[in-house]
Amino acid sequence: MNISKIKSMSDKYLLGFYKRFDLAFVKGEDVFVYDLKGEKYLDFTSGIGVVNLGHSNRKVVKALIKQAKKIMHTSNLYYIPSQPELARLISSVSFDGKTFFCNSGTEANEAAIKVARWIGKQISPRKTKIVTLEGSFHGRTIGSLSITGQEKYRKGFEPLMPDVVFVRPNDVDDLRKKIDDDVCAVFVEAVQGEGGVIPLDKEFVEELRNITEKHSALLIFDEVQTGIGRTGKFWGYQHYDVTPDAITMAKGLGNGFPIGAFHLARRFADKVDFGIHASTFGGNFLAVAAGKAVLKSIKGRVLKNASSMGTYLLGKLEKVKNDYSELVSEVRGKGLMIGVEMKRDGDAKRCVEELLSKNILTLTAGKNTLRILPPLTVKKNHIDYFVESLMECLMLIA
Ligand SMILES: *Cc1c(COP(=O)(O)O)cnc(C)c1O
Repeated sequence: MNISKIKSMSDKYLLGFYKRFDLAFVKGEDVFVYDLKGEKYLDFTSGIGVVNLGHSNRKVVKALIKQAKKIMHTSNLYYIPSQPELARLISSVSFDGKTFFCNSGTEANEAAIKVARWIGKQISPRKTKIVTLEGSFHGRTIGSLSITGQEKYRKGFEPLMPDVVFVRPNDVDDLRKKIDDDVCAVFVEAVQGEGGVIPLDKEFVEELRNITEKHSALLIFDEVQTGIGRTGKFWGYQHYDVTPDAITMAKGLGNGFPIGAFHLARRFADKVDFGIHASTFGGNFLAVAAGKAVLKSIKGRVLKNASSMGTYLLGKLEKVKNDYSELVSEVRGKGLMIGVEMKRDGDAKRCVEELLSKNILTLTAGKNTLRILPPLTVKKNHIDYFVESLMECLMLIA
């Protein structure tokens, strides 16, 4: 098969939701992917924050093969022995709680929305309001789209779910104005991903914790992109001196195998009831095997690498910013979740295209941000190569 054949087949048989590059990858190995012709690319997207342990990570592959040979799926009508083991692992790296497994980030947030409303209504029938941030991204299904604070995703689907209020990120006054006793939950990303790699301030997050406690609203961190070591700590919230009431996760949790989860602090767990939510596939044998392999692998060494390589990359990008101050306005991020904010409209997209022509995969985010999400296994020489290539691209578009 060649790319033009794949392209015409895809155009003919797939619903046109995606605008794709003229590329198809057929093999992956750690930080590299290979296209149909066997050409090698440096993947600084991690499949959008998914393959945090690198492509076709050996331990994950081994766990999946071993499990597939035994049993792949029963249903959640029966016990799945490995499910509580993975849930216990999640508790051990976050906070003591109980977990529901699903298949994606948007599903994890749907579960969180439903549980927040369910718990809220036990306090008052009016406690249904959800607060989220402008510029946030929480998914594409109607519930999680409704709490996504970006017009470009919402347009065309109104009316969406009511009772959602948006607060400006890092604006404590706006936060205080908009939270009251009718709020059942606040959703935030520690670092907004799709919104443009925008980290929350310490002061804002601490006020968030205080004010949600005061009004008995759940503080829910959407860790779908920031979780599983992406920011150099296991979870994005761990950069702050707070503990959330719940977290949602997906992307990196299966390192490429679809799995999501909603994890709720134990003190709220007895407020949910049988039958209020379910998933056919959620937490099946294969997904849980992948999740367990990932959680056992994201340990000190991996987190330390993510943190130190992130600092190294950020430092190099600061120099790039100074050398190209007419093009780059800011570099920011945590761990290996990094954004390069461009001054001129369209430049982030141009950088992605120019880097692609040098066989490097990157992403855009927000209005004009080049987003870099390398696997957490990335090494100095990959980063050096990336930064050199980026400088060549900037020279070209200057
Ligand atoms: C990607 C993402 C989602 C949605 O995850 P899907 O698996 O695509 O449904 C939700 N929240 C955040 C923060 C994300 O980055």
